[in-house]
Amino acid sequence: MSKYAQLCAHGRGSATLKSISALLAWDQETYMPRGGGDARAEQMALLAGMMHDRTSSKDLGDLIAACESESLDDQQRACVREFRRDYDKQTKLPKSLVEELARTGSKAQDVWKDARKNNDFKAFAPWLSKMVDLSRQKATCYGFEPGGEVYDALLDEYEPNAKARQVESIFKPLGEQLSSLVRELTESGKTPSDAPTKVHAPKDRQHALGMYVLRAIGFDLNAGRLDVTTHPFCEGLAPGDTRLTTRYDERYFPGALYGTMHEAGHGMYEQGLPKCKTHKGPGGDAIESFGTPLADSISLGIHESQSRMWENMVGRGRPFWKWLHKEACDQFAELGKFDVDEIYRAVNIVRPSFIRVEADEGTYNLHVMLRFGIERAMIAGDLSIGDLPGAWNERFKQLLGLDVPDDAHGCLQDVHWSFGLFGYFPTYTLGNLYAAQFWETIRQRMPGLDAEFTRGDFSQLLQWLNQNIHGHGRRYRAGELCEMVTRRPLESRPLLDYLSVKLRDVYGL
Ligand code: ZN
Repeated sequence: MSKYAQLCAHGRGSATLKSISALLAWDQETYMPRGGGDARAEQMALLAGMMHDRTSSKDLGDLIAACESESLDDQQRACVREFRRDYDKQTKLPKSLVEELARTGSKAQDVWKDARKNNDFKAFAPWLSKMVDLSRQKATCYGFEPGGEVYDALLDEYEPNAKARQVESIFKPLGEQLSSLVRELTESGKTPSDAPTKVHAPKDRQHALGMYVLRAIGFDLNAGRLDVTTHPFCEGLAPGDTRLTTRYDERYFPGALYGTMHEAGHGMYEQGLPKCKTHKGPGGDAIESFGTPLADSISLGIHESQSRMWENMVGRGRPFWKWLHKEACDQFAELGKFDVDEIYRAVNIVRPSFIRVEADEGTYNLHVMLRFGIERAMIAGDLSIGDLPGAWNERFKQLLGLDVPDDAHGCLQDVHWSFGLFGYFPTYTLGNLYAAQFWETIRQRMPGLDAEFTRGDFSQLLQWLNQNIHGHGRRYRAGELCEMVTRRPLESRPLLDYLSVKLRDVYGL
């Protein structure tokens, strides 16, 4: 067996371990009885230790080094390059720091839950301070390029090769123009009625509608399923097995409908990765791709571009509602009072609010930019933890024009910082940016899409995404893929164009 084949087999073993732990995590969120918590924590910890030993082992390092001196084609070289990237990251961190991050993060998360409930920032502050320190230590171990900053090393975990400065240069003009667009819409006096979103929608009917949409858009239910959780997510846990979850609110059906479409966008990316396929090894032999970077997703930003595209560009579009109107009215009788246009406008209302996860398409990115600026300053040491609430509220007022009533609706609302996810937030907006830029290209190449969507045919879009985005795995970096597909580097214009055309149409401006 070639060293390359051995390396891929090693990766397959690690990916299988990872899929076992993902299955346990999925079960914990969906069906596990409360009493199983302690045993589940032990199971997860045991697997995490086994995975860490395996992915930082000398055997693996030797295999990667051997492959680096083999003669390989471009695809195989990209595969080895990504194995190297993961291995170096694993081995740069001392085990003691990994353990400390996990231990402190787990406690900090518990403290955060209570602090948010009791609106008590002071209780959380010392733990946040510890997590910032530990994350800075982690970043220092990873290292960053000359001219860069500590934050880059953290961002790189979620968005390989992205740099804070480059992200800022895209976010800044986007933020300014979005703020003025939001002001124009909210001050127009033409806010559509939200009555269609408030019709009574029984849970079982919502589930039926969600399944109807999943089948139509092409989520493969022979290789996936949909369950209910408090916090919706998608887990692409193994070849042929992708799990989605959603939650139902009987007085607000768009929550579940768009939550399901969002997770299905992630899910169809997972299903489109070549996990069940093989690729050619150096001797021409067929190598299973599962467990290699060739069957893995590029970055959180690209992942999010897929979920946001199905949720917003497709699901919040007029052609989609022309198709879904009949079925939705059959499921929710009261919806029959409203026509396609009224529903389309209602699901696109822009209204500044305090909570990011409930934000509309127009204001969502402003919430993300706020967090990006603040976490970057905390990691750089330019913002002390004690000053966080004040800085948050001031910036929030500038961006969204609202006075934050308390920290629970402000800097305490997200779970991310409590377990050390610094550098994660920007990937949400990067996802929207990639989605809009891909979408612009897609619209140019497929002028018949609206007519297809109106008939409930989404196959051409999914096929295009499979071929151009999903099928490559991690062969290219996100920026490269974007240039390859759209012939331009990532920029803010396509998202701004998309939002201003659509939202002005919604508001009749
Ligand atoms: Zn997502």
